[in-house]
Order: sequence, then C-alpha cells, then structure tokens
Amino acid sequence: MRDIPEVTFDTIKRMEDMSYFIHALIFDDLLIVAQKETACYIWKTAEGLVIFDGIWPDERVYREIQSAINEVGWENEEISKFVISHGHIDHVGCGKWLVDNHNTKTYLSKADDKLRLSTLSEEGRSDCWKEFSIDCYMNDGECIDCGDKTINIIATPGHTAGCMSFIFPVYENGERHMACLFGGATAPWGDEEGKMIQRESILKFMKIVAKANCDVALTNHTTFDIGLERILYSQSRLSYMPNIYILGEEGVQKFCNVFLAIMQ
Ligand SMILES: [Zn+2]
Repeated sequence: MRDIPEVTFDTIKRMEDMSYFIHALIFDDLLIVAQKETACYIWKTAEGLVIFDGIWPDERVYREIQSAINEVGWENEEISKFVISHGHIDHVGCGKWLVDNHNTKTYLSKADDKLRLSTLSEEGRSDCWKEFSIDCYMNDGECIDCGDKTINIIATPGHTAGCMSFIFPVYENGERHMACLFGGATAPWGDEEGKMIQRESILKFMKIVAKANCDVALTNHTTFDIGLERILYSQSRLSYMPNIYILGEEGVQKFCNVFLAIMQ
C-alpha cells in the first residue's frame, strides 16, 4: 500500500490522451467524467447544470460530457455555469464549446484568467482554451448561487496564484452530504515560495472543510484518489454497497493530508 500517489512526467503526458474516457453518476446530482488523468464534474441544480473544470481543449471532451449528461437523463437541463478551478490548459479545457453552444456563464479568478491568456502557445496544442471570455471573476469567501444550492469559494493559491477550491452539497438517495474539491493538488515545481503558499492553502482548506462538515472529497486529477477505479466501482456498484466518495469527515482530512505529503 502506497502513502503517496505517483506524479511523473508520464502523468502529465497522459493528460493529452483523448483515447479513453469514463463517467459515472456518483451522487443523485453529481456526475464525473474523466480521461486517464483529469476529471471534471457535472452538478445538477435548480438553475441548470454546473460544470466544474473542462479537462483538455478538445472537442472530444465536450462530446463526452454531453453524452454522459444524455445517458443519465439530464439532456433537457441547461448547462448554465462553467466553474474553473484554475487557469491551466487541463482544467480550462473544452470551455469554448460550452460557451459557443450553450451560452454558459464562465467563472475563474482574475489572476488565473491573466495566466490563461498569457500562457504561450505550444506546437501541437490547441489554443482554443483562450478563445472565450470569463464572465465572473471569483474571489475568496464568495458564493455562487445556483437556486436550490450554493457553491462556497475558497482561494487556495500555490499551484497557481489564483487557484480556487469549492465546497458544495451533494445528495445520496436524497440525503445531504457536503463535498469539497481542492483546485490545484501540486505545489509549483522548483518554486520554494510557491511551495510555502501551497502548504498554507492546504491547511486553510482543511480547516474550512472541517468546519463545513465535509464528508465527501473530490479531486480533478485521478492519480490522487485512484480515480479511474473509483469510477469503475461506481458504475457497477449495487445499492447495498457503500458510496466510495463518502469518506466521512475524518476521511476527508486524511485525503487532504495527501496534498501535504506529496510536497515532502
Ligand atoms: Zn494545474
């Protein structure tokens, strides 16, 4: 049994691999879609579907999100909000199609929008993740009202200067749970000051999620939660079996400790 998840150069290469996708309805109102390394979430609210992160800028990601939505029977719901944890290519991802085809309202921090727009183009990589604008710049402590539910925003700088994390309720057979999603799991490589900021953000996040009684931990990278296996399990889970995403409050704290452990 390992204590620390593996993050290597190959992990980063696999983020561009669009040959494999998987999805599962993991709560009454929450759907996860992932490729090999990166995941996004689709959350059903009274004001339409909210998408947290957009994987890679590739139309296949957008199509995969759409087919997952159709499969769970949410095809008539409006995709109303696109909430982006931070301004890296593997999270801004397919936002362009969400905006062009659904008129989705977009959310990112101001600092990370600047980062997104100033990131240099790379050969062989689509630049379309910069081809839409952000409607709302998110700030620490703010909420996004989704009608029947609310997203709490926590600034967790370190991975990027404007990285944001989220707390929101999810339902399992009608029972309410609190979920947390930490926006940027790794400290910036080779940046000692950034590492210190990341550590402070993780500790701040752990305190806030404890206070909010979060018992569900989500991540936008599959390496941190053996995500592909969790999704496979969720696909074939029988009703008497536990929801593998409900870790309990203590379990959520242990989960967050992994983010501290990988900085050693
Ligand atoms: Zn990132």
